Amino acid sequence: MERTSDIFDITPLDNWLQAKSEPLIISGPCSAESREQVMTTAARLHETGLVSAFRSGIWKPRTRPNGFEGHGEIALQWLTEVKETYGFPLAVEVATPKHVEACLKAGIDILWIGARTSVNPFSIQELAQALRGVDVPVMIKNPLNPDLSLWMGVIERFYMSGIKKLAAVHRGFNTYEKSHYRNEPLWDIPVKLKSNFPQLPVLCDPSHIAGKRSLLFEVIQQALLLDADGFMIESHYDPGVALTDAAQQVTPSDLSKLVEKLKIPVKGEENPCKEMEILRNRVDELDKMLIHILSQRMGVVDEMAHVKKECRMAVLQIKRWKTIMETRTGYGLEKGLNKEFLENLLDLIHQESIRIQSKIIT
Ligand code: PEP
Ligand code: MN
Repeated sequence: MERTSDIFDITPLDNWLQAKSEPLIISGPCSAESREQVMTTAARLHETGLVSAFRSGIWKPRTRPNGFEGHGEIALQWLTEVKETYGFPLAVEVATPKHVEACLKAGIDILWIGARTSVNPFSIQELAQALRGVDVPVMIKNPLNPDLSLWMGVIERFYMSGIKKLAAVHRGFNTYEKSHYRNEPLWDIPVKLKSNFPQLPVLCDPSHIAGKRSLLFEVIQQALLLDADGFMIESHYDPGVALTDAAQQVTPSDLSKLVEKLKIPVKGEENPCKEMEILRNRVDELDKMLIHILSQRMGVVDEMAHVKKECRMAVLQIKRWKTIMETRTGYGLEKGLNKEFLENLLDLIHQESIRIQSKIIT
């Protein structure tokens, strides 16, 4: 992807959202269910002193019909009361220009685009159009499907509409095979997003990745190690009775306990200690050696192609390939390397060898 320079003038996150703690946390219920639920949850969150903004869904996109679809505009009054009482900036999901209009009228501070909306460029274009000339921060969840370009496209559409207070929110991806998590984190996708848009703050929503509160800690910790700029975490004063996403919401006091256990890396320090410089130099040297050896290997592969051509051998020699896989994986395992990593690496080398030889022979 080469469009790195398109997004170059993003407003830094701390210009529009004051961090109350390290890491920055936006929290609140999945859905605003009643005035009492919203106010009680906000009161408990306020006691923790950890929360920089209060989130809540008031229009809920549900997979199947006839579930609780949110209270809609009435709930905006409850949120306004939260802001007046506890001073939290408010964040609400919007999916249509009508939602945008209602939120702006109610003084909602941050709008976010849900994963089911991010998949649809028509909806995104309409929302971006509705926000033209409006100075409101927009947070963009990744689309449901693992498509980095689609996520980047959503960000670009809002940016092109003049929204500079932008952040991305990584909430994991829908995959056919169900696994440990409700949504696969596929960590390389938010990492690639960061490298394509270096100015863009990337937050993590561990609640929708984990799907269960018992898994929140490990997801948050991993996101921190990957330099997440903050978190959006669902909370409820009594998650067991929540009308949506009951299994993944935490109580504010459990949120505090969880945050206490985190190992939080220092932000923004490129190279904080001297030993790191020495280790980085060693890695630089080793990488040079690796590349040199790979280039020598591909040179031999090239010579083999000429021999194969002369002897009329097929490029793919499956028995030989199996032996290579087994012996090399064996050496690697002895050296303490991970099996899956070895297999992926050898596969890549093999594919490249096949590409080189096929090109020479044909
Ligand atoms: C939510 O934040 O409650 C929500 C619906 O999230 P997502 O769009 O990530 O599914
Ligand atoms: Mn939710």
